[in-house]
Amino acid sequence: MSFRFRLAAPLCLPVVLATAALCASAQDKSAPPPAAAQAMYPLLAQRLQAVEPKVIAWRRDIHQHPELGNQEKRTAALVAAHLKALGFEVREGVAVTGVVGVLKGGKPGPVVALRADMDALPVKEQVDLPFASKARATWAGKEVDVMHACGHDGHVAMLMGVAEVMAAMKDQLPGTVKLVFQPAEEKLPNAEIGGARRMLAEGAFDAPKPDVVFAAHLVSNLNTGEIGYKAGPITAASDAFRVSVKGRQTHGSAPWSGVDPIVLGSQIVLGFQTIASRQVNVTKEPSVLTVGTFQAGTRYNIIPDAAEMSGTLRTYDEQMRKFIIQRMGETAELIAKSGGGDAHVHIEEDGYAATINDAALTEKMAPSLARVPGGKAMVVQKGTGGEDFSFFAQKVPGLYVVIGNTPVGQDASKAEANHSPRFYVDEASLAIGTRTLAQLTVDYLAMGKP
Ligand SMILES: [Zn+2]
Ligand SMILES: [Zn+2]
Repeated sequence: MSFRFRLAAPLCLPVVLATAALCASAQDKSAPPPAAAQAMYPLLAQRLQAVEPKVIAWRRDIHQHPELGNQEKRTAALVAAHLKALGFEVREGVAVTGVVGVLKGGKPGPVVALRADMDALPVKEQVDLPFASKARATWAGKEVDVMHACGHDGHVAMLMGVAEVMAAMKDQLPGTVKLVFQPAEEKLPNAEIGGARRMLAEGAFDAPKPDVVFAAHLVSNLNTGEIGYKAGPITAASDAFRVSVKGRQTHGSAPWSGVDPIVLGSQIVLGFQTIASRQVNVTKEPSVLTVGTFQAGTRYNIIPDAAEMSGTLRTYDEQMRKFIIQRMGETAELIAKSGGGDAHVHIEEDGYAATINDAALTEKMAPSLARVPGGKAMVVQKGTGGEDFSFFAQKVPGLYVVIGNTPVGQDASKAEANHSPRFYVDEASLAIGTRTLAQLTVDYLAMGKP
């Protein structure tokens, strides 16, 4: 996932009635926790404090040894050994390298799933750290540098911390904790389907089926301590596409003798821009359609046979997503036909759905987020990044929150974004993330079966 979250402060104006209640609940720290949860808080606080230095050490180790999607062998082994030592029931090799751990509490109650993604990115680290990555790996047949440039090292370490806390509280826990360590969130080469979707296909949410799923993602455009959330869409549906334009080769001095795929392709790029701006209701949800590559030709005075483009589509509404995809096909084909050529749009199959935070669950858990020690819960705007947590949240009600990782005192809006070779995680943010996930778990379990 890579995206920029901004504070949704203007949404908290009283005139925006629909969000007023949510904004209020974000600030309402007085909402009393369930008594059963409160009884667990002293032990929770004590265990969190004990585990936080370990979380930092685990994250440094994982940061120094980053692994790309479906190659997370070392990370998965670390996780599996840790969970087994804590008494979790452990399933390994789910969706290649995924690990699922189940801990049954001493009392009956709901099942809470928590998810951490484990993969790194083909990025060369430029952060001056004693544990900076020097790792290299093969990606799509090429040797690449590898870096945890999206904070997934922190997510793994935080969830390992939560595992240790929950294991220590096992007898008191009214319900079951299911930990899902997921590979390949950043997608795989050749549009291969992996990650969350494959974990679900391989039974990650079976026996026991979770009642809810939570996840936390580190983001650099919030400061340490800030915990961002919102009801409804929080990350975008993300679809990659290719457009093939067929023309007919001719000499650059005599275009009438052929069909120019570069001119047709250019018209298609512009035609695409009118879909979002002219054909969908912009008041419903925004959409972004970007053509990122355009390749054609070999020489200045030859009109080539073909042009190839690729790009990405971001949407938040499933119907709008389908409509735009349909219009992209029609726009490309008809523009090409109008000039005597041909065009075809191919949508890659590894697209992600939008992550939709369940409205009722978000409202229910907002006081828990406000209760995180050292944290400041706030409603944020949705991001345009993609995230395959969306598929988990399609199966059961989900809540995805973002955890600021830019040191307090720095302007987070200017921080290097997730996926940058200079992406920097303030280690103090790891405790906030660990506490957030633990707080959500304990509070939700204490509230009993829905
Ligand atoms: Zn990412
Ligand atoms: Zn990510």
